[in-house]
Amino acid sequence: MSEHKDFLRTIVEKDLKSGKYKEIVTRFPPEPNGFPHIGHAKSIAINFGIASDYNGHCNLRMDDTNPTTEDTKYVEALKGAVEWLGFEWNGNVRFTSDYFHKIYDYAIQLIKMDKAYIDSINEEEMREFRGTVTQAGKRSKYAQRSIEENLDLFKRMKNGEFKDGEHVLRAKIDMSAANMKMRDPLLYRIRHSHHFRAGNEWSIYPMYDFAHCLSDYIEGVSHSICTLEFENNRDVYNWVLDTLGLKVNRPYQHEFARLGINYTVMSKRKLLELVEGGLVSGWDDPRLPTIAGYKRRGYTPESILNFCDSVGIAKANSMVDVAQLEFCIRDDLNTKVPRVLSVLNPLKVTIENYDGSEEIDAPYYPHDVPKDGMRKLPFSKEIYIERDDFMETPLKGYFRLTPDQGVRLRHAYIITCKEVVKDSNGEIIEIKAEYYPESKSGAEDTSGIKVKSAIQWVSAAEAKKVEVRVYDRLFKDEAPEGLEDVNPDSLRIIKNALIEPAVITNRPDERFQFERQGYFYADPIDYTDELPVFNKIVGLKDSWGKKTKPKENVPKPQAKQVQVDGEVAAMSEKEQVLFDKYTSQLGLNAEVANTLARDEQLSSFYEEALLSLNSPVAIANIVTNEVARELKEKHSDELKFNAEQISELVKMIDDETISNKIAKQVFEEMTKSGDNPTKIVEDKGLLQISDPAKITPIIDEIIAKNPDNVAKFRAGNTKLLGFFVGQVLKNTGGKANPQVVNKLVAQSLKE
Ligand code: ATP
Ligand code: MG
Repeated sequence: MSEHKDFLRTIVEKDLKSGKYKEIVTRFPPEPNGFPHIGHAKSIAINFGIASDYNGHCNLRMDDTNPTTEDTKYVEALKGAVEWLGFEWNGNVRFTSDYFHKIYDYAIQLIKMDKAYIDSINEEEMREFRGTVTQAGKRSKYAQRSIEENLDLFKRMKNGEFKDGEHVLRAKIDMSAANMKMRDPLLYRIRHSHHFRAGNEWSIYPMYDFAHCLSDYIEGVSHSICTLEFENNRDVYNWVLDTLGLKVNRPYQHEFARLGINYTVMSKRKLLELVEGGLVSGWDDPRLPTIAGYKRRGYTPESILNFCDSVGIAKANSMVDVAQLEFCIRDDLNTKVPRVLSVLNPLKVTIENYDGSEEIDAPYYPHDVPKDGMRKLPFSKEIYIERDDFMETPLKGYFRLTPDQGVRLRHAYIITCKEVVKDSNGEIIEIKAEYYPESKSGAEDTSGIKVKSAIQWVSAAEAKKVEVRVYDRLFKDEAPEGLEDVNPDSLRIIKNALIEPAVITNRPDERFQFERQGYFYADPIDYTDELPVFNKIVGLKDSWGKKTKPKENVPKPQAKQVQVDGEVAAMSEKEQVLFDKYTSQLGLNAEVANTLARDEQLSSFYEEALLSLNSPVAIANIVTNEVARELKEKHSDELKFNAEQISELVKMIDDETISNKIAKQVFEEMTKSGDNPTKIVEDKGLLQISDPAKITPIIDEIIAKNPDNVAKFRAGNTKLLGFFVGQVLKNTGGKANPQVVNKLVAQSLKE
C-alpha cells in the first residue's frame, strides 16, 4: 500500500470502522468499445488496489449497454489488461447485460410508483425543454400519462413495436433542479440493434445513469469509484437507489481525477480514429497510450503501476508529463535488464595488428557485480563501431576516436586510428586501426595509452543483423487537438543495425539495455530468427522534458551584441550558425545561446557534453555559469573535470538523484578533486531525498514547532506554504526533493 493514504482509502477506512460495510467491494466497469489505455490502468490500480488493501474484492464488469459500439474483441483486451497488470477479478467477468431483466423490473417498479414516464417528444424539443443552467426546464405534456398507459407503452417498446427514438423512459424528478442531470433523466431508449451478448432479445437498452447504480447494487458493491465527470450524475445515482428503497448495504459513488498525459490522446473514441484512420498499425501500436501498446513496446506492468502510484489520487484534473512515465520505466529496467553491445549505424574498423579471434568474458550486469550473468563477446580483426563515435576533424572536447585520439572498446582493448578510408564521394567507409594487447579491460594496463571514453562495438563476423524500431511521441503538440497534430516522425525504422550474438542465441532476456543507446524489447509479434526486431522502449535519459519548443509567431531571438572597447562586435558567420542552432533546435534562450556561441572553448565543451547526454537546456545552464567561471581562470586543458563528467552531473539532476542546490556543491568538489560526480555524491551522502517516509517526520516536527504559522496558513494565509517548505529543505541540508516536499507540506497543512 502507498505510504500516504489517499482520500479514497481514508473514506474506505472510515466506512469499515463505522461498520457501514463489512466487506469492501469495488468494481472496474469499462465499456467494451475500445482498447483500454493508461487512464484505465489508473482506474484498475485504484479499484483492485483498494480491494486488495482492505481484503475485499473487485469485480470486472463490462458496461455493455450500447450495442452499436461494443464487441467481444474489446472484452478480451480489457480482461488481458487487468491480468497483465497483475490483478485478479472476483468470480466470473460480469456484464451489465446479465442484469437486463432485473433492471427492466426495476423500471417497471418506478413506473408503478409514478416515478417514471414514457416521453414521446422529439430530440429537439427534449433539448429545448431541458432549460439551461440559469433557466428552469419544463416538463413534457407526456409526463401526464397514466401509470397504465406508461406500463403498456414500455412493454410495447420492449417488444419492438416502435422505431428508434419514438419513445423514451424518463425518471420523474424535477425539471427545475439546479443540477441539470436531475431534470427527468432518460432511463431507457429504443435501439433496434444486435447486442453482442444478448442478441436480438432487446429493443430497449438502459442508460448509464440507470444501469450503473443498479448493477453496483446487484453485485453488492460498496464503493463505486469513478472519474470526476460523473460528479453530477451522483445525484441521479442516489435518487434511483433511494426511490427504489434499496437501502441495505447499498453502494455510494466517489469521484477522483482522470489521468491525462501530454503529447497523446486518451479517449477510446480518439484512439479508435487513429487506428481506423491507419495512422498507427493497430491498437497495440507501441506509440499508443493503450495497455496493449505499452506492452508491445516493452513497458513492464510494474512501471505502469509505479507511475499510477506516483501520480497519486487527486480530486482535481491535471495533465501529467509523459517524462514521468518514462522515468518509471527507466527506473524499473535500470538494474533489471542485461546490458549488451549494439551498433545502430555501423562503421567498419579493421584492426591491422590483430590476428585470429578470441572470446571476451563480459558481465551482463556490469553495474551490479554480484549479480551473475556473463556472456562471451567475440573479438576479431574486423569490427563495427557507431559512425558517430569517430570524428575526423573533431570538435574541441570530443573524447572518442579521432585520427589523434584513441578510445577504449567496451570490455575489450584500446584502439587508435591509423588511416581513414573514404569512397569516391569522400564518405568515410572504414577505419584502419591498431590495438594495444596489454590494454585489455580488467587487466592491469601497461599500454601507457590514456583514453577518455569507451564505446560500443561488435565483431563483424559474429554480429547479427537486426531491425530496430525507434519511437518518438505520437503527437507534436503537448495538448493535441486532432489527428492533424500527429508527429510524422514518430516511427523510425533502422534496418541494418548490428547486435552482439549472445543477445540472439542465448536470449538472456526479452528486454535489454543496448549500452549508450537505450532500453529495447524484442518485438513479441514481428521478431523472427531470420529477422530479429527490437522496439526502443525508452532512451537512457530524458531528451524531451527539458527541451522547450520555440513557439510559432514568437520573433526569432536576436543575438545580443557584445560591447568590445565601446564598439559592438558582430558575430562571425560560424558563431551565428551556432547561435541559430542553439536557439531554434536546442531551445536555449538568446542570452545563454549568445554566451555559448561567442566562446569557442565554451561551445566545444558544451557540444561534447551533449554527446553523452541529450539535455541541452540543463547542460547549457551549467556550462554558461559554473564551467564558464572556471574557464575564466584556466584553459580547458587545465580543468580537472571533463565534459562527460558534467553530463553525468546534469543527469543526476535530471534523474532527481540530487537537487540543483546540491549539484553546485558537487561541482565545487569536482573542480578541486576531479572525481566523478557519482563518487562525490556517494562519498558525501548527498543523494536527494524523495521518500515521503523520510520527509514526513521532518514536516511533522516543523508543523509542531510552528503552531502560529499553521493557524495563519489554515486561516487563509497560503503564502506561508513557502515558509514551511523552506524550513524542511533547510532541515535536510538542501537534500530533500523540493517538489515532493511541496506536495507533502501542502497535504499535511490541510489535515
Ligand atoms: P474513454 O473516454 O477513454 O472511452 P471512458 O471513461 O468512457 O473512457 P470506460 O470504459 O467507461 O471509459 O471507463 C472504465 C473506467 O475507467 C471508468 O470507471 C472510468 O472512470 C475509468 N477511466 C477512464 N478513463 C480514465 C482516465 N483517463 N483516468 C482515470 N480513470 C479513467
Ligand atoms: Mg465512455
